[in-house]
Amino acid sequence: MAVRTYALQSSCYRASDMIDNKEKELVAQGKAYQEAIMGAAEEYAIECSLLKFIGSEVLDYCVDENVQIHGGMGYSEELSAAGAYRDARINRIFEGTNEINRLLSVDMLLKRAMGGKIDMMSPAMAIQKELMSVPDFGGDEDETPLAAELKAVKNAKKAILMVAGAAVQKLMTKLKHEQEILMNIADMIAEVYSMESTVLRTQKLIATKGEAETALNVDLTKVFVSDAIERVNLHGKHALQSFAEGDELRIMLMGLKRYTKYETFNTKDARRRIAAKVVEEGAYCF
Ligand SMILES: Cc1cc2nc3c(=O)[nH]c(=O)nc-3n(C[C@H](O)[C@H](O)[C@H](O)COP(=O)(O)OP(=O)(O)OC[C@H]3O[C@@H](n4cnc5c(N)ncnc54)[C@H](O)[C@@H]3O)c2cc1C
Repeated sequence: MAVRTYALQSSCYRASDMIDNKEKELVAQGKAYQEAIMGAAEEYAIECSLLKFIGSEVLDYCVDENVQIHGGMGYSEELSAAGAYRDARINRIFEGTNEINRLLSVDMLLKRAMGGKIDMMSPAMAIQKELMSVPDFGGDEDETPLAAELKAVKNAKKAILMVAGAAVQKLMTKLKHEQEILMNIADMIAEVYSMESTVLRTQKLIATKGEAETALNVDLTKVFVSDAIERVNLHGKHALQSFAEGDELRIMLMGLKRYTKYETFNTKDARRRIAAKVVEEGAYCF
């Protein structure tokens, strides 16, 4: 619960800071305040769609675990756990259901790519070329804190470009009717956005507080990256198997494996260190 909350918090901080900055930038350019707010919201509408479904699903996970921790009493209306569980459920339905927000986020992204607002084509083509090349077996020479996690994020972005690029190429206009694939892509993007936000936040904390003070933040980040990269692989696999087959599928599955590699470390011990702190504080405290 703490790990997923930390990642969600990091993503919300990042998106809201970007919206704030955009709003200030537009006001400085002479736009009226209301217009600036609308402009900033529009600029980051994709992030907001992602955060709507990520946030409501992290909440659902936490209230569900809360019931579980309390056992039979968690199910009883005598404790607040049951009420929190029921009340949280609406969040996946209103403000645009999570299915609609998944579809919307990818739709907005593809429209921006088609309209030339963002270039997805050149990096997607570069990935296709890279897939045919010999993999980079270089060690992690970079000694910067969380360099391996940042590398995992960079590679996971390549996984998205590979899957989305191939889906667009293969299905063209039919892609909009293949909602399962679009949702797989949305899930990959959501995981990578959360991973990147978490790594960037923790790097910033290390830079300001030092490594000793932020050891648990590093644990939270590494556990999240380790879990999330597996989910990127799974969503990618489901998407690829929906539209590719034979050698083409085999090559892309190998590429996916290559782009979702992450170092192994003892996540059980890291989870225990995090849990011990939550128990000590009696609350989420990161
Ligand atoms: C407590 C509560 C408060 C609310 N408050 C407001 C409010 O203040 N203002 C307001 O405007 N509305 C409000 N609503 C309405 C809410 O926004 C809708 O319930 C919501 O948009 C879903 O619409 P629906 O109920 O018609 O479900 P439907 O649209 O019928 O959807 C049913 C299911 O099918 C899925 N689905 C539908 N289309 C697709 C698709 N193309 N692909 C995949 N899956 C799909 C949905 O994700 C959902 O899981 C509220 C609802 C509730 C329950």
